[in-house]
Formats: sequence, C-alpha cells, structure tokens
Amino acid sequence: MPVAIVVGIQWGDEGKGKVVDYLTERASLVVRFQGGDNAGHTVVVEGHKTALQLIPSGILRPDCRCLLASGVVLNPFSLRDEIASLQAVDVEVSPERFGIAGEVQLILPYHRAIDAAREANRSGGKIGTTKKGIGPAYEDSVTRSGIRFCDLLNQPRLEELLARNLEFKNNYLKEVLGSDEQFEYQSLLDDLLKLADQFKPYLANVSAEVNSAIETDQYVMFEGAQGCLLDISHGTYPFVTSSNTVAGYACASAGFGPNRVDRVIGICKAYCTRVGGGPFPTEDHGEAGETLCKVGNEFGTVTGRPRRCGWLDVMAVKRAMRLNGVESLILTKLDVLSGFDKIKIGVSYTLNGEVLDDLPPSSDDIEKVEVVYEEVPGWKDDITKARSLEDLPAETRSFIARVEELTGCAVDGFSVGPDRAQTIISGEPVKQFAKV
Ligand code: GDP
Repeated sequence: MPVAIVVGIQWGDEGKGKVVDYLTERASLVVRFQGGDNAGHTVVVEGHKTALQLIPSGILRPDCRCLLASGVVLNPFSLRDEIASLQAVDVEVSPERFGIAGEVQLILPYHRAIDAAREANRSGGKIGTTKKGIGPAYEDSVTRSGIRFCDLLNQPRLEELLARNLEFKNNYLKEVLGSDEQFEYQSLLDDLLKLADQFKPYLANVSAEVNSAIETDQYVMFEGAQGCLLDISHGTYPFVTSSNTVAGYACASAGFGPNRVDRVIGICKAYCTRVGGGPFPTEDHGEAGETLCKVGNEFGTVTGRPRRCGWLDVMAVKRAMRLNGVESLILTKLDVLSGFDKIKIGVSYTLNGEVLDDLPPSSDDIEKVEVVYEEVPGWKDDITKARSLEDLPAETRSFIARVEELTGCAVDGFSVGPDRAQTIISGEPVKQFAKV
C-alpha cells in the first residue's frame, strides 16, 4: 500500500513539481487534490523545460495516469491550452493518461473577472491573488451554486446553471464591483459545449480508481499545490489561498481513508520565498534577499512576479510538519545557497519579549514577531554536479544535519538544480517511491 502525499511546507514554489516528477517513476497514479491553474510547476528533464499548471507532473512519465480530484477547481479554457501545449512537445494527454473527477468545480470567465475586480477594489492590503478566479470558484462551491465538471457534460443542466449564474454574476460585477465586464450567455454556452465534447472522455471516478489502486498495491502519489502556510484554515489568513493545502485534504478531496497513507513528504526550499502580500518573518530586505532572488530565479511561473526572499524559517517548517504529518523532508534549491559566507537560519520567534512555541493565528501578530537567527558557515563550491550526499562539501552536509536537528525531521533528499538528475533521494523511506 505505497501511498505518499507530497506537500509544500512553506509558501509554495518549493519545487514540488520537480520532486513529484522524480518520485513518480514507479507510480501508477498521480493525483492533484486542490487548487487550480494558479499553481505552476516547472519540470526539467534532460534540459527540456515543461511548465505545468493543472495537469500533475506525472504526465511526463509514460506509464503514469494523472487525475484531478474533486477538490480541484478547473478552468476548462486553460486546460484546453495546457493540453495543446503539452501535445505540441509530444507529451501525450489522452483519456488513458489523464482523468477528471465529475465533482470538480469549474472556473468560468466571470470568476476571473470577479477576482480581478475585487483585487482592484481592495484599497490596501492586497492579497496578491493570481486573478485566475480560483477564490470565486471555491465560493460558488460552498454556496452550492457552482457548475461542476459533470454539469459541463450534461447540456440541459449546463444551460440551466449557466443562465442562473450569469444573471447573478453579471449583475454582481456591474452593480457591486463597478466592473464593465459582462458575459453573454449564448457565446459562453457555445464555447463550453465545444469543450464538453473535447473533455467528455476524461470523466473519471477518482475515488474508485484511487481506492482500487491502493487495494492492488500500486504506487499512488498525491501532489499538493501551493504551500502549507497558504492553507485556508491554517495559513497566514487572509493572505492565503482558497483551499486546504495540508496533506489531510488529499483524503477528503480524492475520497479515500486517512488510514491508507504511508508517508507524507514535505518539500522545503533551503531558504524561503513568498509571493504577494502577507507576513514573512524571515524575509531579507537587503543584499542577501536580492541575491537569493537572482540566483534562485525567484520569479513566478504563472505571474512572472518576483518572489520575496529570505532565510529558512524553522518555526514555520515545524508548524507545517505538525499540520501535515511530515516525516521526510526534501530540501530543494540547495545550490542557490552556494557563495554565501554565512547562511542564516531563523530558529525561534519572540513576540513582545515572549518566546513563542508556534506561529500565532493572527497575521498581524506574525508581522510583529522578532526572529532569532543562527548563522552557519556557507560554502563556495558549485554543488550542482553533486549526485550523492558524499559529493557535497562538508559545510553543505553540516547545514543539512543542522536542519535535521532543528526541525527534528529526517532530510531524505535534496536537490541541487532544476533538472530531474539533480534530485538526490538519500533516505530509505522515500527511496521506495523513486526507483523501479
Ligand atoms: P512548485 O510549484 O513547488 O513545483 O515550484 P515551481 O516549479 O514554481 O518553482 C520551483 C522552481 O525552481 C522551478 O523553476 C524549478 O525548475 C526550480 N528548481 C527546483 N528545484 C531546484 C533546485 O534544486 N535548484 C534550482 N536552482 N532550481 C530548482
């Protein structure tokens, strides 16, 4: 029953896509369980770069089937484009390779317009949404007015739901948000019916497939998007995404029991980044932050926005480990730390002079924490060619050992560059997923 959930344990962009790609060599199924096309993964295989937004990175493995579980929100127009761009580089996205749960909520053009109009109307404290309509689509799910993938495939139902939603959304856009974006029923319906024809073969019973794969001892991998600290319930609210990003949500979304999970693997950048607004205690506003951004190429895959950069934050990592049940860490982008004389690690926080044992629930308080740092020696060597722990300089190995000590978690792998070959899985509990 080899079931693993891979989650980002910071604010996203930890390099999950690349690690999932590496770990899916023997997986039969790779399942996305939350988020939408706001999440971008970049996977590089033998120098060849593929950008993925919605389709799990397992698609690059010819024997792997990829699924979108019910908790995902799906923009059918983006999916059409993503499938076309993958097929243009000879990555097959046939219904045998890719399936979509009927329960998946759709993101429609009015969701994007609402997202953009709301963000524009927010005077201060912009959340920094990607304006992809993710939040408004999740809202419709909760208010039970959403249009789901199964509705897209049922024309009379689609017509009824679309008419009802459009009347409300057009009115809301104009009267409440002051936007002049309006959507015309017939042209949107026609576009959707074309997509319905294209996507009908992809309809899948995700829960049945997942449970059957688990029962027959196949390897199943769940791929999280964004990061734990962006979780709608446990993250730095309101500067969070609209879904639960924690590992437990994989069960709820894909419809299988928590007793089936073998391992939760936490992907952790060797430093820390964040996109958009919100608290970021270990952010470095100086030269080091700029260097991390430049060397780490910290610009969003989807938005192109520069990411805020800073140091590894042990308090945040420990919180994420607890919230997810992480037992293995994979430290990514270690190569980006090469060249620093000293590397800082945020080890604890104080707030109003008191030492904290966790991040406070209020973002206002997190903004005010003071971070206690520890400095460890850096290294100058280029480590991008390292293929085992032994290939790393002593200082890099000490840094990894120190992360293990401070977090109390095994570092079962690390990566030293964007390529699949630059991912090194060193710990036995994770190795089983990595090699046939
Ligand atoms: P994800 O959303 O967590 O999958 O992360 P992204 O794909 O948005 O961001 C990770 C970026 O870092 C991608 O451009 C990767 O190609 C790149 N990357 C991943 N691992 C490494 C690494 O170990 N070193 C370097 N230099 N880049 C990496």
